[in-house]
Amino acid sequence: MAGGDGQDCVFCAIVRRRAPAYIIYEDEDAMAFLDIYPFTRGHALVVPKQHGARLTDLPFESQVALLRALDRVCRRSERLADDYNVALNAGANAGQIVFHVHFHVIPRYGEANPFHPNRRNRLGETDARELVGLLSAP
Ligand code: 5GP
Ligand code: ZN
Repeated sequence: MAGGDGQDCVFCAIVRRRAPAYIIYEDEDAMAFLDIYPFTRGHALVVPKQHGARLTDLPFESQVALLRALDRVCRRSERLADDYNVALNAGANAGQIVFHVHFHVIPRYGEANPFHPNRRNRLGETDARELVGLLSAP
């Protein structure tokens, strides 16, 4: 399979429910869950169920399916804030750390640039549960 079989991949483990995550969206081809070190409140990751390191490792149909999921998650993000950033890091030089393709959906509340790597706090359980309640409804 393109990008390997994902045996040691943390996002594959989440997709297979072998690792915990606060899941906010799921369909046949894709899943979204809260980022464990959010840049802002509600920062979510949208991933294909099929393993691939980057978008172009996926068959085009899987890319389309991923965009469908991204659309859903963006709409749900608007429950938290009207504005958001969508980001995709492809390759280490672009800041990719987890080599399973994912879109970041990052709600923006009018704060100054929140993209400081050393200012990210781990997602708290109470807030995560509240966010799942807000974001997981269709
Ligand atoms: P990248 O830099 O690869 O685009 O982003 C990877 C993202 O995945 C980071 O924002 C990081 O906080 C998040 N992340 C890494 N490991 C885990 C994990 O085990 N669970 C969750 N929910 N997020 C993770
Ligand atoms: Zn994977």
